[in-house]
Amino acid sequence: MTKDYYKILDIPEFSSTEEIKTAYRHLARKWHPDVAGNSPDVIKKFKEINEAYEILSDRAKKADYDTARRFYSYAKENHTQNTYQKEAEKNKTDDKKSFNFNWSDFFSKPNNKDFQAKSPQKGEDIYSDIDISVFEAVSGTTKIINMLQTQACPRCKGKKFINGAKCPYCAGKGETSTYKRFNVKIPAGIKDKSKIRLAEEGEKGINGGRNGDLYLTIHIREPKNYKTEGLNILKTIAISPHEAVLGANVTVPTIRGNVSLKIAPNTRNGQKIRLAGCGIEQNKKIGDMIVTVEIQIPRNLTEAEINLYRKLQEISGLNIRERIE
Ligand SMILES: [Zn+2]
Repeated sequence: MTKDYYKILDIPEFSSTEEIKTAYRHLARKWHPDVAGNSPDVIKKFKEINEAYEILSDRAKKADYDTARRFYSYAKENHTQNTYQKEAEKNKTDDKKSFNFNWSDFFSKPNNKDFQAKSPQKGEDIYSDIDISVFEAVSGTTKIINMLQTQACPRCKGKKFINGAKCPYCAGKGETSTYKRFNVKIPAGIKDKSKIRLAEEGEKGINGGRNGDLYLTIHIREPKNYKTEGLNILKTIAISPHEAVLGANVTVPTIRGNVSLKIAPNTRNGQKIRLAGCGIEQNKKIGDMIVTVEIQIPRNLTEAEINLYRKLQEISGLNIRERIE
């Protein structure tokens, strides 16, 4: 029956292309079987969302759909289905301009069903997203994703029946949905919102038509607590006053894993330490990580710790000013 694609994407009618895209992306992420689980309800919902986007993101399909939808809701609001049909019948006899709108035929374009049954149709495109870090964007990376794909049932080969009985493998649907794993190669220097197209990895084609494509939109996440400067990665780490005086070993997460960083005794605030080769790799060049040391007083100092500072104050004496630049 009728599907309200606007309702499915939870947007008002006449939403802009951008709004449609945003709503779709939000829902597609939320209902992606990788996230929401592999239950039939989730798969159904996910497919519905993709179907809605397929129509509403295509200018021509959307225009057709809007017209039909408006007509349909007009018919529904102002007439019962019965009187509507009677009127259609009346129109047919009244003047020769017969108009017999049949919603269920609407998406079976072209309307001639015999033609439709045999003509090859391209499968639907599928849209998904990949999040990468800014480091991966600069260096390039490979991401593994799992996509739910529909293909002809391997048992009945899409014929739905075996020896006159419903195929038990696909319950007579003729198709099955399984996850396919992709190693998606993301080239170095990719820009935010770029799309990667995996040809013919979308929904399967109908009647020998080519498969749809899989479009992956790249989203570059801004890393927390890191900055980049060319191929160098900049990071600030906090150490305590006593670590600054006595030295310490601090674990620093880098693009190449955790590195144990030696803080030398008598390290000053703002001092920079270079971790060679721990920056971004691009075109066979590799940057460094530059760590800036910041001396911070620990939170929640205990009474015992504060007493030690009092002791230090006594010992240091009044000439402390002279020893601080
Ligand atoms: Zn089957």
